[in-house]
Amino acid sequence: MAALRRFTEHRLAGFGPHEDAMLAADPVMSHSLLSSSLNLGLLDPFEVVTAAENAWRTGRAPVNSVEGFVRQIAGWREYVWQLYWYFGEEYRQLNALHHRTPLPDWFLELDADAVTARCLATVLAQVRDTGWTHHIPRLMVLGSFALQRGWDPRGVTDWFHRCFVDGYDWVMLPNVTGMSQYADGGRMTTKPYTSGGAYIHRMSDLCDGCSYRPGDRTGERACPYTTGYWSFVHRHRALLAANHRTSRAVQGLDRLTDADQVLRTNHRWDEHPP
Ligand SMILES: Cc1cc2nc3c(=O)[nH]c(=O)nc-3n(C[C@H](O)[C@H](O)[C@H](O)COP(=O)(O)OP(=O)(O)OC[C@H]3O[C@@H](n4cnc5c(N)ncnc54)[C@H](O)[C@@H]3O)c2cc1C
Ligand code: SF4
Repeated sequence: MAALRRFTEHRLAGFGPHEDAMLAADPVMSHSLLSSSLNLGLLDPFEVVTAAENAWRTGRAPVNSVEGFVRQIAGWREYVWQLYWYFGEEYRQLNALHHRTPLPDWFLELDADAVTARCLATVLAQVRDTGWTHHIPRLMVLGSFALQRGWDPRGVTDWFHRCFVDGYDWVMLPNVTGMSQYADGGRMTTKPYTSGGAYIHRMSDLCDGCSYRPGDRTGERACPYTTGYWSFVHRHRALLAANHRTSRAVQGLDRLTDADQVLRTNHRWDEHPP
């Protein structure tokens, strides 16, 4: 209850405008940090939603922040719970993209110090030190990197399970297997979630001071997320071309005049941390 009160008093008001942003020095930002309490049953989703609604009714938080937060709990959390039971046991075996690469030791061991890419090093260190990071680093830094590298989705799910304080099978499985690794071939989401460095640059301050540059796709300072994105589009060209939400990515790849060089640059990180 104290954590819920603290959130509604101090952070809920900023949730709407900032929920998708990442800051190196402020991993929590406007997030509630309530997932482990909710999953353990220490807080009831209804009382959390009611507390947020009361904050709006009493003028302590604007409607866009309260609506965004309520949607996470009454929307996403419930959706994920229902999907878990609807999809059943075989869901964890799915591997629609045929990704089989084992996770490297530096990732398994949360060795943030071995990583040069500032976004990934920062987020790995957050997980190592606290067992938590918010939704966007999970999806667009950790999960996206695994997807781009073609890591085995079951290994990725096990890793998330082991490393996060709020890791429960029912919530981890759809979020990792479906949402982040697209291993279900689109049963949960309408497209795979991954991006080049430009997205991370737009949503965070993590590219400032990084040894790589988000816009570079070849050369010494090529961003591993940017090369990884194009490599992913190349490997799954047929699938992405057939999906109206991702067909433009394939057109974008076809417009690159240096595509071969980009793909060669990307191999740099097959054996070494980025
Ligand atoms: C790859 C990946 C793995 C994840 N694994 C877990 C997990 O093991 N356990 C877990 O509780 N959440 C998981 N999530 C969802 C989400 O990232 C966390 O619930 C959230 O970051 C927890 O921090 P918070 O309490 O500050 O959340 P806030 O951002 O403050 O959101 C409020 C609440 O909404 C709920 N919520 C928001 N998004 C989701 C979602 N996608 N699925 C289910 N509930 C959601 C959570 O209960 C959360 O506490 C995962 C997301 C991704 C992309
Ligand atoms: S330049 Fe690329 S690797 Fe560096 S922080 Fe930005 S997205 Fe991450």
